[in-house]
Amino acid sequence: MLNNQGRPTRPNTSEQDNSATNTFTGNKALELETPLIFEQGVPGRLGVDMTEPKKVSSRLGNTARSKPIGLPDLSEPQVLRHFVRLSRQNYSIDSGFYPLGSCTMKHNPRINEKVARLAGLGDLHPMQPVSTVQGALELIDDLAHWLKTITGMPAVAMSPAAGAHGELCGVMAIRAAHEAKGEARKRILVPESAHGTNPATAALCGYKVESVPAREDGRMDLEAFSEKLGPDVAGVMLTNPNTCGLFENDVKKIADMVHEVGAYFYCDGANLNAILGRVRPGDLGVDAMHINLHKTFSTPHGGGGPGSGPVVLSEALAAFAPIPFVTHGENGFDLVEHVEGEASNSFGRMKAYHGQMGMFIRALAYMQSHGADGLRQIAEDAVLNANYIRVGLNDMLHSPFDGICMHEALFDDSSLKDTGVTTLDLAKAMIDEGYHPMTMYFPLVVHGAMLIEPTESESRETLDQFIGAMRYLLNKARDGEATYFAQAPHFAPRRRLDETGAARNPILRWTPEEDDPQSDRTLSAAS
Ligand SMILES: *Cc1c(COP(=O)(O)O)cnc(C)c1O
Repeated sequence: MLNNQGRPTRPNTSEQDNSATNTFTGNKALELETPLIFEQGVPGRLGVDMTEPKKVSSRLGNTARSKPIGLPDLSEPQVLRHFVRLSRQNYSIDSGFYPLGSCTMKHNPRINEKVARLAGLGDLHPMQPVSTVQGALELIDDLAHWLKTITGMPAVAMSPAAGAHGELCGVMAIRAAHEAKGEARKRILVPESAHGTNPATAALCGYKVESVPAREDGRMDLEAFSEKLGPDVAGVMLTNPNTCGLFENDVKKIADMVHEVGAYFYCDGANLNAILGRVRPGDLGVDAMHINLHKTFSTPHGGGGPGSGPVVLSEALAAFAPIPFVTHGENGFDLVEHVEGEASNSFGRMKAYHGQMGMFIRALAYMQSHGADGLRQIAEDAVLNANYIRVGLNDMLHSPFDGICMHEALFDDSSLKDTGVTTLDLAKAMIDEGYHPMTMYFPLVVHGAMLIEPTESESRETLDQFIGAMRYLLNKARDGEATYFAQAPHFAPRRRLDETGAARNPILRWTPEEDDPQSDRTLSAAS
């Protein structure tokens, strides 16, 4: 039986409906189908047995609730099972291959987690007096040192909480630097292939965003770029390696051109994994670059966070870095928290406290456990793995750009032409095969793009199986099985979702069914 939101809520007892794929319970083996937690609640059921509190007189005045808040009444095992079951429905890097391009879904070594949970780190509070957190400040300073050394940059702002937040930090520093010179520049140039956060950041900072086309070979078109450059350009935001998985070979020339007109070079560093220990962005003329600690240096991500996006800065921008930052004071480490003294050029604060401490710990543990040689090996293996996939599929899937790739392999949908199967269909069929789909329809410069990033932490066996599964599906598509793809996924509990409907008309609040015996419960305050 389906509820008013299309979910099965009761055992399926209709005999007609007992086809091979239907079960009495709705469960599929150990994949359990249980009602929403609100539907499970039974009025009066309790998980604890507490004595009736003594009569107290409320001191809440008219802010006291007049109605129950509408939480379901449940026993402890019900609550436990509910949330354990939900947690098992998460697909994660801990459960399987997650080739989501541009996201660097690599294994998170357990040593990071162990270190982050040490009481001396895990129990810290950001408002503790500086004298009691000298070790934590030293850790932030150590990590800053590694980041500066890896990138060859003189300064780093540690507080940004994600890649996009780091972009905001970098562009705010660029804006502050221009303002300090009394210049009001208007435009920021962004290549067509850029991640959406790049133009969004520039626009948020009040700049007009101008898009620069890509060349045939997937790199930024230098001629078009030079035509757009001018004295009113504040900066360029370039990703390197770019989102086509290619190294921008002309990057030094680009940096020189940018500096010639007095603009700054923002580099989106989300793809640092591909060049760790091989290329230092500081040597390429970069002025500001965020580092997604949660991508390049492991630390769990996906599902919305947390992230951490420190921004390395050139000499020209260092003075405009946000507060707070760690300094070496007379009595050990200190925190600069106000825009005055040595921070007088700072553009201000962009986050409460000092950054994502838990991520700092994990990233530093990751760096130190790999060592300098290990970090370099990461980039080499990440590039090798991506090329292994590229070569394993390139007789069946078309690569829009020739030659070897960096850490991710990019394909377009031209090989699917005439099959009636789209990139989206193929991705849905991958779910049936047990894979999180690759990044789709990004970068925008490639039609029906499929961006596959295996990362260095996958074994050859995993890659072989993935290539095998992709080849099997591509053969199926060629054999005219478009209907199979149009209906995929066949084995996912909710089958094919109406994604447009979910985005346009999301149902975020549960309401009791009309015929539900519990529908008289007050749920108005449930959310
Ligand atoms: C992930 C990513 C970002 C944004 O980083 P978040 O940490 O998700 O905010 C920006 N640019 C590129 C190329 C990325 O891959």
